Amino acid sequence: MYINEKEDILSKTPSGLEEYIVSLGYPKFRSKQIFEWMYRGCGFEEMSNLPQKMRAELAEKAYIALPKIRRKLVSEADGTVKYLFELSDGNLIESVLMRYKYGLSLCISSQVGCRMGCRFCASTIDGKIRDLLPSELLGQIIMAGKDAGERVSHIVMMGIGEPLDNYDNVIKFLRLVNLEGGLCIGYRNISVSTCGIVPKILSLAEEGFPITLSISLHAPDDATRSEIMPINNAWGVAALLSACNTYFEKTGRRISFEYTLIAGKNDSVAEAEKLARVLKKYLKNGIHVNLIPLNPVKERAFKTSSKQSAASFCSTLNALGINATIRRTLGPDINASCGQLRRSEKNKE
Ligand code: SAH
Repeated sequence: MYINEKEDILSKTPSGLEEYIVSLGYPKFRSKQIFEWMYRGCGFEEMSNLPQKMRAELAEKAYIALPKIRRKLVSEADGTVKYLFELSDGNLIESVLMRYKYGLSLCISSQVGCRMGCRFCASTIDGKIRDLLPSELLGQIIMAGKDAGERVSHIVMMGIGEPLDNYDNVIKFLRLVNLEGGLCIGYRNISVSTCGIVPKILSLAEEGFPITLSISLHAPDDATRSEIMPINNAWGVAALLSACNTYFEKTGRRISFEYTLIAGKNDSVAEAEKLARVLKKYLKNGIHVNLIPLNPVKERAFKTSSKQSAASFCSTLNALGINATIRRTLGPDINASCGQLRRSEKNKE
């Protein structure tokens, strides 16, 4: 996919970049210099150790898909930062930077919009506009790290979009994000979250990245899940959980299940019991359930579970031997869950 006619050089591997630079008639060592500048978040105009003429030629033929910070919200409660980024073609995406004891973790977007249609989610309301390029996935990390003045050490792909609906670019990104001399982010510090595109989960199991896979499950049975997540009509709970078991067997990596608690929809003790049963039926080992109180979206009718229902749901799972925790919510004052800032900015225009 092309955003413009220019060469997207931040999506290139080091050897791909070298080939391109040599094809323009420049010596190899120039590509290493350009690589270092790009990964520090700099454009051609800042590449002071490159000849002026070369910078001008590059700016004409190539582009560096680093997003611009269009807005930035900082939570007074806990310092969480939400970035509204503008891409080279003017499209908007969001990333959220969270500080943990172990370092900075960035939640990145994988598409402009989303076509998965989950009924509680803000990102999918206007559908998908386009996939993000590998460079635009990297660019969010580079620019957030540059703005924070600190290294981002952990990545979660839980922002706007469905990563496995942009499979090839996400795989290229996963190869680039780990490169020494680049961002050098370890695979064990990366989580990819999916609503459950079964064939892609099975392909990902073959790629051999020791990342964490998160599954947005949100319901223990097909009737409820299909009602809130249209993807379930293509691949039901049984197919999804058996793919998760295959993933675990192939990679040895524990799977994290996301379960958004929606009042009166999926949050009863009976549903917690059903969830424990179905997880144990399909997965022998390596289960963790992350319970997320729903973040209400104004266009959607769903309501958050009460603290009490969330606590009973969690303790029911624990009593049945399922490792579960209620996720701490960060950035409560900045609407940190993705999709909402982009929508409010678009509505202003
Ligand atoms: N498409 C991917 C990743 C993006 S969504 C996926 O479905 O996993 C990241 C997580 O936030 C998912 O678990 C998603 O179901 C959840 N989510 C979306 N909208 C939410 C909301 N309003 N409140 C709480 N969680 C939400």
